[in-house]
Amino acid sequence: MRLVILGGGESGVGTAILGKKKGYEVFVSDFGKIKGNYKEVLLINGIEWEEEMHTENLILNADLVMKSPGIPDKSPIVKKLKEKGIPIMSEIEFAAPYTNATIIGITGSNGKTTTTMLTHHLLKSAGLNAGLGGNIGKSFAWQVADNKYDSYVLELSSFQLDGIKDFKPHIAIITNISPDHLDRYDYKYENYIDSKFRITMNQTEDDYLIYDADDEAINQWLSTHKTKAKLIPFSLTKIFSEGAYIKDNKMEIKISQEEFTMNTEYIALEGKHNMKNAMAASSVAKLMQIRKATIRESLSDFQGVEHRLEKVLKIQNVQYINDSKATNVNASFYALDSMNTPTVWIVGGVDKGNDYNELMALVREKVKAIICLGVDNKKIIDVFGNVVDIMVEVDNMNDAVKMAQRLTEKGDTVLLSPACASFDLFESYEDRGNQFKQAVKHL
Ligand code: ADP
Repeated sequence: MRLVILGGGESGVGTAILGKKKGYEVFVSDFGKIKGNYKEVLLINGIEWEEEMHTENLILNADLVMKSPGIPDKSPIVKKLKEKGIPIMSEIEFAAPYTNATIIGITGSNGKTTTTMLTHHLLKSAGLNAGLGGNIGKSFAWQVADNKYDSYVLELSSFQLDGIKDFKPHIAIITNISPDHLDRYDYKYENYIDSKFRITMNQTEDDYLIYDADDEAINQWLSTHKTKAKLIPFSLTKIFSEGAYIKDNKMEIKISQEEFTMNTEYIALEGKHNMKNAMAASSVAKLMQIRKATIRESLSDFQGVEHRLEKVLKIQNVQYINDSKATNVNASFYALDSMNTPTVWIVGGVDKGNDYNELMALVREKVKAIICLGVDNKKIIDVFGNVVDIMVEVDNMNDAVKMAQRLTEKGDTVLLSPACASFDLFESYEDRGNQFKQAVKHL
């Protein structure tokens, strides 16, 4: 069987190694450049590859194709494969049958990484032999090839879910759904929602779907579609006989006649959105029968994830917060919502069709100045120009941070939460966040 892999990144190389181990004839083709260390790995494992091209006669003779989630269906090579009827699948679809481990799959528009890392932290703290993968760290396929873990916590993007046929997680989480990546879904929000719900399509009565019951899109989908999985809702506003919720400043989880309670003030992560992430992760922990004391301890010592509401430094009693991963309006909504002191907000970048009006009430209430950090700031200025007293445009991170310092007084907060992608001025959101942290450290 010839396995052709499109894309020589983390998931492609991981799949190549697993495929080779399972007896496939493997070929990796990348239209761009393959990173040096990946090339070495392919060489060591005796796997053939090409870069900066797709040679059709080496690809269209495949029995099976694994496509990296970054490659859109519209690309010419994918179209040709489809015309020839060659099956195309994603890394997780390919890898899952080669492991008996319990799989926890986490998707959603925002909060995937945080919830995945927190869930993994809970499992590890309980002494479980759990791997972490999907969009984070080492690819799932690679770990399956190494055969190390009894369970996996996987962060799953909608692109990865688009490439599944039989894959099913034993426990699925949908953190929330808001419009994102619509360019890949024919600009139809319902296509994107359907894609997220693919996470549950193969689940059975023995599986679980944990979901945000405050989320309009999720509730709407569940009221018009069926899933066989047992439903475990979580909410900030409702209370359930089976599910997770907040009552009298306590997080409560009720699952299978079991109860877990924890005072929210002891949960290390801050902000309402993180309370939801904590409810989702703790529900998994309950389902995995982790002891209550371990869940409590893990929730109180989890330090959060870099670039997500990350506290950088306090300088002259001004707190600097790096939320560079906020690449859409919904993420910035929760960031602004969790601000407790007057805030200088650094915002802007590549707009993905943002509707900033959703932030209007929060900006009025919390923001004393806006620093626009993008190539094109017109939309931000149009929406908030008359709402805040001070609005400044800058074109690099150092100036943004210096300006922010000038505009603050004791007790204020400086928040980088761009609500936009980073590619106009930075290499990635990590680069943007790192430049912010550097600039703050230089103040
Ligand atoms: P993802 O992996 O889905 O992009 P992250 O955990 O990396 O999610 O968080 C992305 C951004 O969304 C960060 O700015 C973070 O503060 C914010 N965020 C985290 N959890 C949630 C949530 N449950 N709802 C809304 N925004 C969230």
